[in-house]
Order: sequence, then structure tokens, then C-alpha cells
Amino acid sequence: MEVPAIGSERLRVCPECGADVPEEERFVAWCAECGWNVDPSGAVEPQPGRIEAARRRLAHRYGEQLLADIEQSRDRPPPRSSYRALTYVLALTVHGVTVALFVLGVLLVVLGWGTMLGPVVGALSLAVAYILRPRWGALPKDAPVLERAAAPALFALVDEIAAVVGTTGVHVIVIDARFNASVTTYGLRRRRMLRLGLGMWEVLTPQQRVALLGHELGHYAHGDTRHGAVVGNALHSLRVWYYLLAPTPHPGPGALVVNWLTFVPRWAVYGMLVLLDQLTLGAAQHAEYLADRTAAQAGSSAAAVELMDRLLIGASVETELRRQAVAANTRVGRAAPRNDAGVGLWASLAAHIEAVPEREYERLRRVSALRGHSVDSTHPPTHLRRRRVVTDERYPGRVRLDAVGNAAIEVELAEARRRLAGEVIRDHFR
Ligand SMILES: [Zn+2]
Ligand SMILES: [Zn+2]
Repeated sequence: MEVPAIGSERLRVCPECGADVPEEERFVAWCAECGWNVDPSGAVEPQPGRIEAARRRLAHRYGEQLLADIEQSRDRPPPRSSYRALTYVLALTVHGVTVALFVLGVLLVVLGWGTMLGPVVGALSLAVAYILRPRWGALPKDAPVLERAAAPALFALVDEIAAVVGTTGVHVIVIDARFNASVTTYGLRRRRMLRLGLGMWEVLTPQQRVALLGHELGHYAHGDTRHGAVVGNALHSLRVWYYLLAPTPHPGPGALVVNWLTFVPRWAVYGMLVLLDQLTLGAAQHAEYLADRTAAQAGSSAAAVELMDRLLIGASVETELRRQAVAANTRVGRAAPRNDAGVGLWASLAAHIEAVPEREYERLRRVSALRGHSVDSTHPPTHLRRRRVVTDERYPGRVRLDAVGNAAIEVELAEARRRLAGEVIRDHFR
């Protein structure tokens, strides 16, 4: 069935419809006409767990409906914003219970001191209140943390993009090796932390990097509720409650009574958890669409669309890093000194991803639409996010990252790049 080679690209004939299908060694051969072999690994890939699968289905359905809402009502207030009030009422109720437990504990210990049971129950309440206490997040101890003085060019870029999307910059930038980027806060003062994964950063063009930062900083600008202190901590408390109230698996007579007594509170907690999760899922997905718009405003619509395509190649990045880690370890085994092992890792990764042809992206986009690819279960499906950026107003991009600025940032990241390359090579070889 093989057709002679044309240049370096060979052709074969689609077994389904007979159209010509280019064959390239590194990539899946598939048919653009009828869709033959678009998703060869789809059937064999491990399926997510039941709860995760359900959430993904829901995120998919909701993502589509939300997109339709947004596309129809350009200037109306965000859909379902009325849920926001209910979300906060629920979250504050959860925190109210924690405060009540704390007060009850103090009162029982202080006032019930003469009795036998008072201090015991009081101490128990205080212990539970302590477990439920709000968490503020902390700086990671195992990753390079950049402060302003160490990376002036990168922070200047972040500041410039932040100003465009209507917020302020960050306090620290944490670098890791992952194919990801995120924003959070840390400490009681809720200082801002941007996390940049080199697995993603290194395979982006300068303008795609601007779009990525525009997306992340957009989350601060739009006040993402799910990550906010009040709601985020309420979700945490509910998960702790659910764990505390979990039934004993093979109960004796005593535990059976406890299981029976905790039945109603357990399901109440579960109901609250599902409700709060659902209420914030909508807001979280809406926040993603808004953040994609700020990505376009900062970097340009074209760069934002390219960024969406890049999100689809996470698996290729992983595979390539693993391949390089094995190769580097083999070399180390022979001659080269160990701290040279990481040199060139990120540049090779970038070159590898740079060589991915448009046809492969087209295939991945089709797989994404078929399978409902999303970055995680709170993000809308990537193909819908891409469609939204394509159909939205065209933005020329207000921030340019030129070659000089890009080179300055690369110098500032040099130490983190070297250290993380070493870690990638070590970790993938275990
Ligand atoms: Zn075909
Ligand atoms: Zn996001």
C-alpha cells in the first residue's frame, strides 16, 4: 500500500477512505479526511477513577454551556454570579462551625474544670478546631525561589503584564520542572506567588510566554473564588470533616453505634462538599475563560491560541525529558562529569518541541475535542478555551518581549535551569 517518497515525507493510503496520509517517523499517521487513526492510544489509555471521571464529564458539559452563555452575552454580567453570594454563605457557615467548636472547647475547659467530662470534651473540641483551622500556604522548600532582586528583568515583565491585565505583580516566583504554571498566595499576609514550570516555559516562544503570564496574572485580576482564603479554606475544612466522620469499615458493637450516630452529619458534610464544589466549579471555569482573554490582551490573540496548542503537548514534553534523562545518564556512566549532565537539557527540549509539525497539533486538537482534554478537572476543555480565544475580539497584544528582554530573563533563570535539569536527570533515572 506504500506510495513512493516525496522529499523526506512518505505517503501512505488511508485504509478507510483511500486519501493520501503523510507518514513521519516520530508522529502518528492519521487521516485528515475521515479521521482514521486520530486517537490510536485512546482505547488503551488508563481511565480516570469514577469520581474524577464524573467531574471531568461535568466540567466538559458545564464548559460547553458556559461558553455558549459567554458567546451570547458579551457585555452582560458574568453568568451565575448570583451563586457567589450562596458560595460565601456556605463557606462562612463552615468556618462558623470551626469557631463554635473553638469557643465551646475553651468554655468547657475553663468552666467545666470541676467536672470529669468537661475538660475532656473541651480538649477534644479544641483538637478538632485545631485540625480544621484555616491554612495559609507556604513557600516551597524544595524548589528555586526567585525574589525581585535576583531576577529584575523577569519581575519587570511580570509587572508590565500585571499592569495591562489590571492587577499588581507578585512577591516571589517559584521555578519547578513541571509542564505547568500557576498563581497562589502564601503566608498570613496573602503574598503572591507565581509558579513557573520550566517544562512549559522552555517550549514557549517569547510572545507565548507573555500570553502565559497574562493568563496567570489574570487570575489575580478576576479574584478567583476557589483559591480565595474563605472558600478555599472552607473546602479544606469540609474535606477534613468528611475524613473525620468516615465510618469504621468492620465495626464492632461500639463502632456500629458511632457509625450510626455519624450517619447524618457525614452525609450533610458530603452534601455541602458537593454543593460548594459545584458552585465554585462554574466560577472557576468562568475565571479560566476570563484569564484566557487577559492572555490575549497581554500577548496577542495569536499567541494565546498558540499557547492553547502548546497545552496539548504535555505528554510529548514528559516523554522527551525522560528520553533525555536516560541518554544523559548513559553518557555519565561512560565519561562526562555529573554536573555537566544538565547542560543543554532545556535547549534540546525546546528544539524537540519546536520541530512538532502543524499537522500533529491538528491531530492533538481533534483528540482533545474527542476526549475532552483539559489541564485539570476545574479547567474548561482546552479545545473550548481555544475556540473562545479564536471567536473573541482580536487583540494585538500590549506587551512585547523582545530578544534582549528574553535573553536577560534566560540569564536570570540560568541557575534554576541548571539545578532543575540536574533534578530531572536524577529523578527520571530512579
Ligand atoms: Zn481517511
Ligand atoms: Zn488558569
